Amino acid sequence: MDLCRYIRDVPDFPQPGILFKDITPLLADPAAFRYVIDQFVPRYAARGIDRVVGIESRGFLFAAPVALALQAKFSPARKPGKLPYKTVEESYTLEYGTNTIALHEDGIGRGEKVLVVDDLIATGGTLAATCNLVEHLGGQVEEVATLIELTFLKGRDLLAGRPFFTLLQF
Ligand code: AMP
Repeated sequence: MDLCRYIRDVPDFPQPGILFKDITPLLADPAAFRYVIDQFVPRYAARGIDRVVGIESRGFLFAAPVALALQAKFSPARKPGKLPYKTVEESYTLEYGTNTIALHEDGIGRGEKVLVVDDLIATGGTLAATCNLVEHLGGQVEEVATLIELTFLKGRDLLAGRPFFTLLQF
């Protein structure tokens, strides 16, 4: 299936100069959405994944169905101030300013094999910080998976050798 047909380019969103990859046409097509989940699940079915971490907010849309299909636990990685219980947080640098990502401190168990999922990797800062938190809590990042990679930003380099898998590259 040509998934590119279901990704809409929106120029200058959320700010001038950004070409936003809008996944809502894909989410609105059950066959395309299922196809994406079906690309991930068999890849991880025999790899003993204990937990899938999904990154707020579009990462949740892919991470949760994959976790259910793998019969793995699901944990949300969220922006600061959103998770109600005790958290661990990591900040990372953006072109202008910083961002922070948080996990519940009981969101990863010691020794768990973890799959980290987001919709898109751009600079890689969000995924790298999430992986650092997973490892800080004693988890082992089995792989990082995204629907889309913006290759010109070289975000996968920031993952520092952690295995990375993507379905689409732009
Ligand atoms: P980064 O930390 O730079 O890899 O940014 C990744 C996060 O920002 C992901 O959660 C994406 O959903 C979002 N993001 C960054 N750039 C884009 C883009 N061009 N289109 C859609 N989402 C984006």
